[in-house]
Amino acid sequence: MIVAEQKPLDEIKEMLSPYDKVLVMGCGTCVTVCFSGGTKEASVLASMLRMSARLDGAPKQVDEVTVQRQCEWEYLDTVKDQVAAYDAVLSLGCGIGVQAIAEHFKATHVLPGQNTAFLGLPTEQGVWEERCAACGDCILDVTGGICPIARCAKQLLNGPCGGSQAGECEIDPDVPCVWQLIWERATELGQVERLLEVQPAKDWKTSRDGGPRKIVREDLRQVSLDLDEHL
Ligand code: SF4
Ligand code: SF4
Repeated sequence: MIVAEQKPLDEIKEMLSPYDKVLVMGCGTCVTVCFSGGTKEASVLASMLRMSARLDGAPKQVDEVTVQRQCEWEYLDTVKDQVAAYDAVLSLGCGIGVQAIAEHFKATHVLPGQNTAFLGLPTEQGVWEERCAACGDCILDVTGGICPIARCAKQLLNGPCGGSQAGECEIDPDVPCVWQLIWERATELGQVERLLEVQPAKDWKTSRDGGPRKIVREDLRQVSLDLDEHL
């Protein structure tokens, strides 16, 4: 899932200072699951902003709404009249949600209420950890399902650096060296031979280094164009 964290209240208040009527918009998908931007969080934040504005002697109208997914036009369409009635929308979606609102409602001021952090996994109650950096060319088959791109500070592809000590990463003793984890897993699976093959330099053009990425599925696109023609 996409993992995000709400911005500090003071930062949000500062962003909202030019606006009198604000719609806090939650998102019902990833940020709901990571407890940072769903219905409950939107409601709590809107209450805090109303109270805080009143205490500051400059009351604001702050209301909230949550859509199932901020990153799809059809869900945003369900709130278009509400959006038009406010000076600004404070999105509690991830950065994609914020940009979807900006792209869909061109006259609307939209602000990010969250810091979008990473693609991660809840590893225990209240803990999320990064697991994928969306490199665009997955190599988990080689590394036994453990990602050295997202989980090694140096994104090494051929074993650990000299800083790996007793299974810990040199950047932080609380971070396991991912190459230790990969080696242990390969040992359990009887696949260490695979790790001894030298991996070539990775072609990073499928990752962010190649600029903004885009996937086009012509089969799906054609079905949509055909449907539009018949409407
Ligand atoms: S190898 Fe790339 S796509 Fe696969 S998990 Fe790692 S970052 Fe994600
Ligand atoms: S100690 Fe391991 S995880 Fe940390 S940077 Fe070196 S190889 Fe990567």
